[in-house]
Amino acid sequence: MRDHVVSVPGGKSEGFLCAVCGKLISRRDHMRRHMQNVHVGVRARYRCPVCFKVFAETKFAAHIEKQHPKHASDFGNLEQFRIDRE
Ligand SMILES: [Zn+2]
Ligand SMILES: [Zn+2]
Repeated sequence: MRDHVVSVPGGKSEGFLCAVCGKLISRRDHMRRHMQNVHVGVRARYRCPVCFKVFAETKFAAHIEKQHPKHASDFGNLEQFRIDRE
């Protein structure tokens, strides 16, 4: 997998943009660890903060949009609702 090196607009730092979650990570070794910890091996699941149901990564955003459109803008980054295990 190729790293995406980006410059941050208005900032002086450069980093690696995670192709999966869009997080900007400053160092290559941190990126590697991030991928390992966050995106590799585990199937991400998310718990809806409104109805407490658990969703696969691919379904969660759609669920929020459909069921809780009023909340969608408050939630921001949906990664915060991620659960790695029950
Ligand atoms: Zn990521
Ligand atoms: Zn819900």
